[in-house]
Amino acid sequence: MSKKLEGKIALITGGSRGIGAAIAKRLAADGAKVAITYTKGADAAASVVKEIERAGGKAIAIQADAADADAGKAAVEKTVATFGRLDVLVNNAGTAIPKAFEETTLEEMDRVLDINIRGVFVATQAALKHMTAGGRIIMIGSAVGERVQTPGLVPYSATKGAVKIFTQGLSREVGSRGITVNNVQPGPIDTDLNPAAGEWAVPQKAVTALNRYGHVDEVAALVAFVAGAESSYITGANLTVDGGMNA
Ligand code: NDP
Repeated sequence: MSKKLEGKIALITGGSRGIGAAIAKRLAADGAKVAITYTKGADAAASVVKEIERAGGKAIAIQADAADADAGKAAVEKTVATFGRLDVLVNNAGTAIPKAFEETTLEEMDRVLDINIRGVFVATQAALKHMTAGGRIIMIGSAVGERVQTPGLVPYSATKGAVKIFTQGLSREVGSRGITVNNVQPGPIDTDLNPAAGEWAVPQKAVTALNRYGHVDEVAALVAFVAGAESSYITGANLTVDGGMNA
């Protein structure tokens, strides 16, 4: 039996660690050829590529800071030049600088905006040039894009709220081409960005219904579904995978 994403080409921004790495491995396991981007972690990115290749898949890693528009566009072009097409874009690269809003500097705000929103606009625009019917634009937003239950995430949650409405608006523009646009919104997921053992973890875990952090594979499973053919009638949707944080 052929795999669900056989013949598909996917680009995952920020795929060297955390949620993005899990998405890359899962889409590759489902048959897609994948490209991942990273900024500093060349070794981590290379090890994701090796792991995919060892399992019989195909992958490339591209250094591209999502805050750099030219690099973001170049990553899309490199993916198409390498694999011949682009079917799935996962806008996963993102960052948070947790601290009180009044102590947040303009530079910190700009960094969060540039990666979490501007980078998403740029990569999506570049990807849409190559996408045909069946194409999938998938955002990794956040449960805090809908409800903010803990302090310290004000600019970050504002960018994720923007990602949510960007998803909804864009779905209206590309739907007639058979391209879907969806926003996967994780709750607290154990990664370097949000360690389950960290100081910020206690209040986050406490507001989940399942009373635990999520695993990166639990996000990747939803992304794989949205990337596949079975999600064909889902678009403009905000799909939460948060252990009941926003219940
Ligand atoms: P991590 O910090 O653990 O991993 C981030 C990944 O993105 C790394 O591969 C990193 O590579 C890459 N990256 C970071 N900055 C950039 C950039 N400017 N351009 C390109 N790549 C970049 O993060 P998570 O896996 O936790 O988060 C991934 C996404 O999920 C983010 O959008 C985040 O907002 C979202 N999210 C996370 C939640 C969580 O609890 N963990 C909850 C809700 C949403 P390198 O080190 O080489 O830069």
